[in-house]
Amino acid sequence: MSSPVWHPFTQHALEPAMRRIVQTDGACLIDDSGSRIFDAISSWWVITHGHRHPAIMAAIQAACENYDQIIFAEYTHEPAEELARGLLRIAPQGLSHVFYSDSGSTCVEVALKMALGFFHNSGAQRRRICVLEHGYHGDTIGTMSAGERGVFNAAYEPMLFGVDRLPFPKPGQEQETLDAFERFCATGDVAALLIEPLILGAGGMLTYPASVLSELKRIAERHGTLLIADEVMTGWGRTGTVFACEQAGVAPDILCTSKGLTGGALPLAATLCTAEIFEAHLSADRRKTFFHSSSYTANPIACAAAVANLNVWDDEPVRQRIGALEVMQAEKLARFAADPRFGNVRQTGAITALDLTVPAGGYLSEVGPKLRAFFRERKLLIRPLGNVIYLMPPYCVTAADLDRAYDAIDEAAAWFAAGRL
Ligand SMILES: *Cc1c(COP(=O)(O)O)cnc(C)c1O
Repeated sequence: MSSPVWHPFTQHALEPAMRRIVQTDGACLIDDSGSRIFDAISSWWVITHGHRHPAIMAAIQAACENYDQIIFAEYTHEPAEELARGLLRIAPQGLSHVFYSDSGSTCVEVALKMALGFFHNSGAQRRRICVLEHGYHGDTIGTMSAGERGVFNAAYEPMLFGVDRLPFPKPGQEQETLDAFERFCATGDVAALLIEPLILGAGGMLTYPASVLSELKRIAERHGTLLIADEVMTGWGRTGTVFACEQAGVAPDILCTSKGLTGGALPLAATLCTAEIFEAHLSADRRKTFFHSSSYTANPIACAAAVANLNVWDDEPVRQRIGALEVMQAEKLARFAADPRFGNVRQTGAITALDLTVPAGGYLSEVGPKLRAFFRERKLLIRPLGNVIYLMPPYCVTAADLDRAYDAIDEAAAWFAAGRL
């Protein structure tokens, strides 16, 4: 039966029929035939503790007793107020205000506007944004402009604005990244560096050392350039700490969070900023207002889910759980460390990744969809980025689920070597 639904990042001419999910449970999706599919990528990186965490679902139900959407100009509500206080408590030091939106892309757009608005309102116009090569910040025009260019955005290229790109800090070439940033900053025209801390997600799970991030922050400070940490993927424990910036001892000027903010239950995003940035928009002159809003800004039910998520972090041993998962991931990944069928076997916190050795890599590498189908047949939700296979499981994952995933990766490599994939 054909469906009128147009799915994201889906080539409908090539994809098999969508598998229909009727329920979610812990680390699994359950389809209409009753099959349990291990969600090894946390449903595109949003689910943190596990699907349908009881405390978060209960908070959503309770919030429904009182709220639906409420206009967020002129009016406020307790879930948004409580969440903002909670976020500032858990986020890196130095952030003082919270601006809500509804997706990862929009919270990054908000961050870019805050940075440009900060300089505009301060009378020191700066026009450039610096980013890291292979970065990904979303699929809106602004965030695509800041992200890596390629097949994803070729059609929109004429509409994208230019940014200054730093080479990715490959091992042994970190200094080149720092030098490039220093050179761009020296022009005096760089408003902000927008960067994914420690690991670039959609760009291929590329990892770099925390020391690079601390050095970039030092350079930014010297030039009065703002640091925007895009923690949309890295936040909420994925890299081992609540936010990845912590590991670099870096306090960003602006921090973007979404995906795991509600534990993955509902869409919500927040852009946190320093008092300096907020105050640059504070004026008797209305032209200095921060002109941004989404209709669903600070949806109270989503905010209540996020407050419940913060409580889960306070009340449950989430950090220990992630620590144990890190160890488990390291142990299970180890078998591939010296395996010539794979390259760049790596781990950041609870995320592992490895590149299947293929003649032609990259996102459109033919092997990507074949691997995806191979895993799908084995009731595993794993979506390689081209030849880059990665696991980013929810924190409730069992050793047995992980074993099944790693065994399948091993088997997939064997099939590939035998020409069966
Ligand atoms: C997913 C992602 C985004 C975009 O988030 P959406 O909610 O999909 O708009 C932005 N930045 C990073 C680092 C991401 O991983």
